[in-house]
Amino acid sequence: MTTTAAQTPVGNPYDAAVAQLNVAAERLGLDEGMREVLRHCKREFTVNFPVQMDDGSIRVFTGYRIHHNEARGPVKGGLRYSLSVSIDEVRALAMWMTWKCAVANLPYGGAKGGVIVDPRALSKRELERLTRRFAAEIGLLIGPDEDVPAPDMGTDQQVMAWIMDTYSMMHGHSVPAVVTGKPVTIGGSSGRVEATGRGVLFVAQEACRDRGAQLAGATVAVQGFGNVGAVAAKLLAEAGARVVAVSDARGGVYDARGLDIAALVAMSPAHGVIPDGARGDRITNEQLLELDVDILVPAALEGQIHGGNAGRIRAPMIIEAANGPTTPDGDAILNARGCYVVPDILANSGGVIVSYFEWVQDLQSFFWEESEVNAKLQRIMQRAFAEVAALRDEHHCSLRDAAYLLAVRRVVEATQVRGIFP
Ligand code: NAD
Repeated sequence: MTTTAAQTPVGNPYDAAVAQLNVAAERLGLDEGMREVLRHCKREFTVNFPVQMDDGSIRVFTGYRIHHNEARGPVKGGLRYSLSVSIDEVRALAMWMTWKCAVANLPYGGAKGGVIVDPRALSKRELERLTRRFAAEIGLLIGPDEDVPAPDMGTDQQVMAWIMDTYSMMHGHSVPAVVTGKPVTIGGSSGRVEATGRGVLFVAQEACRDRGAQLAGATVAVQGFGNVGAVAAKLLAEAGARVVAVSDARGGVYDARGLDIAALVAMSPAHGVIPDGARGDRITNEQLLELDVDILVPAALEGQIHGGNAGRIRAPMIIEAANGPTTPDGDAILNARGCYVVPDILANSGGVIVSYFEWVQDLQSFFWEESEVNAKLQRIMQRAFAEVAALRDEHHCSLRDAAYLLAVRRVVEATQVRGIFP
């Protein structure tokens, strides 16, 4: 079988985000003024900035930092380096961060950023110069009390370290709390690297309990083998699930007997890449999504499950580890077919929850053991899951609609009690 990249995202992610918001706004009976407030991103910053390349030439890159809503606190959200970045993608991701922080009841609003760049096409020095210049440009917006970036697709601990250092140099002293997802040596939190994948495991455990199913022995397919997908696959396998398929941007590998995820991670030639010598059949990303497995974990990018393929998805349970992997029309088809979907704003909140712990630790200069981080993460995720499931039962709706009800209601309450300035 041949390998190809997955389909490009279908539709505009910001339209999808607004459509999801509209469902909750309708159920909550929000007035038009409040809907307008929530639909818009509060601040949208676009920057075109020069970077000197290793050969001496100068290239101009475009980046964004967008704040969706700060009613519940300083804004929080990742930075994405990818050629797919667009202002509407960043707007959608910022809005989803607002809801995600509210579902977990973290004292944050939502933000997101991105640069249109293929980070793998740059040398390490070029990546550092690009990151430092972008950090200086968005230095107008970021800060521990204002806006705290974190890693997302295409960025990692090293990128966060450069941002922390650049911001610190501009302020004349070390400011670790300006970003999360940093290396532990400069104020990162134990457990942060694995946090999103670990959260996916916790949510999978809760979902199986909710459905009266067993995680041990369940077959699992994971799309995406990066920070989220590879860790989720490894932890699900350790919990007794049989991970039969994983993929990266080029395609995937399938073995009905189960893959040795730890070995695949160890053999991976680069971050997020499945080794060429991996045992099993080669499959496309489209084929992976349609496998006959118990649990499907999309952990790559948005728009992967859509009106065109949702009818062919055979997994009865989907845990959305990526942001926005299902379009609204895809979601409607999954719902009609009775598929159990744990929505992204609940399923992948482990990353921002441990980012919150990192920020708290930085502000206090007092650091916790990893076991404490993981136990607190599990407690928050279990509570969030229980609150969402209770709302689902009360309103006879999907977990996604229930998660949006919880999140939007919390943001509306904060907005109303603060009032509209002046
Ligand atoms: P990453 O860059 O570490 O890994 C991305 C993976 O997806 C790689 O294996 C890559 O090869 C694969 N991929 C890229 N394009 C693809 C395509 N077209 N088809 C299939 N696979 C493709 O990114 P990540 O941090 O693991 O993020 C993955 C998703 O999880 C994103 O939607 C991100 O917004 C979301 N997320 C990440 C975090 C976090 O803490 N990193 C937290 C919450 C949500």
